[in-house]
Amino acid sequence: MTDKRILIIYTGGTIGMQNTESGYIPVSGFHSVIDEQLHPPSGSRLPDYDVIEIEPVIDSANLVPGHWPIIASLIQTHYKTYDGFIVLHGTDTMAYSASALSFLLVGLDKPVIFTGSQIPLVELRSDAKDNLCNALILAAYYPVPEVTIFFHGKLMRGNRSTKSKATGLDAFESPNYPWLGQVGSNSEIHSEVVLPATKQQFSCPEFNAHSVAILPIYPGLNENICRSIVETDGLDGLIIRSYGMGNLPNQNKALMAALKSATSNNCIVLNISQCLQAEVYHGHYACSAELNDIGIISGANMTTEAAYTKLLYLLAQGYDREEIYRQLGKSLAGEIDL
Ligand code: ASP
Repeated sequence: MTDKRILIIYTGGTIGMQNTESGYIPVSGFHSVIDEQLHPPSGSRLPDYDVIEIEPVIDSANLVPGHWPIIASLIQTHYKTYDGFIVLHGTDTMAYSASALSFLLVGLDKPVIFTGSQIPLVELRSDAKDNLCNALILAAYYPVPEVTIFFHGKLMRGNRSTKSKATGLDAFESPNYPWLGQVGSNSEIHSEVVLPATKQQFSCPEFNAHSVAILPIYPGLNENICRSIVETDGLDGLIIRSYGMGNLPNQNKALMAALKSATSNNCIVLNISQCLQAEVYHGHYACSAELNDIGIISGANMTTEAAYTKLLYLLAQGYDREEIYRQLGKSLAGEIDL
């Protein structure tokens, strides 16, 4: 044991699940399970830890934006007491939560590491012990002062990560940004790609879960679907997941008119690519040349998770449209290359 102390926040997810007749469900009381499974031998390099859990613990498929201030406020409340934080979270929406938390915890000087597993900790073939032990060691001895995801040996910036495999143990990727570190027989941090220190700007706003929608573009998309989304009461932002470098079917004039009427009615429309590895560039192809004039903003190389949570976060801060446009055009937590 060492003098480092890490706070583990357990939110649910496969890591703490049990198999039942109706399938896997998350169970509470995970602290004792962690102690039993890790039972660090004396003299081990594992740091001391405490465990708290949210109530109720969830399958992360049931995550809602209201969970993010709960997790963020636990970290903010205990920030001075611990050397680092681990959030145990289901993999399905881990990249959304890690992205959201990166905006709520700007200017960290301690590590916040999200991890989980594809197989529950209590099962023989589990990947959980590896992910959790390594996350504890990274948090204590290789502290990267960012919100990260650690999974299957890779440490990735949270707001650059996405779940790419439903069952593979290497479930996450960081398609448009290098890993921040990796763990094999040795641990290595790539400090040249870690965020430089900035002023601490923690916040904990209330999210309006229904203020932003995501619309994938596909051949034959009916403009009425787009229209009914943008005309939904309370919608302030729309993420469009376009083709390749930000391309839209611009010959579908009714669809373009629906998008134009959205921006004219103050809905913020942000364009990101449905390709994993991509950067949106309006005007590279003629089919995206009119997007700037319509008032659609390029989301450059943001992941869907980062774009969605960034827009929700900016709206939750109560900024006016001009300020939101300004903030969308800059990197708040290393989520975008401009
Ligand atoms: N459905 C689970 C969850 O996201 C999947 C996992 O944890 O791997 O909570």
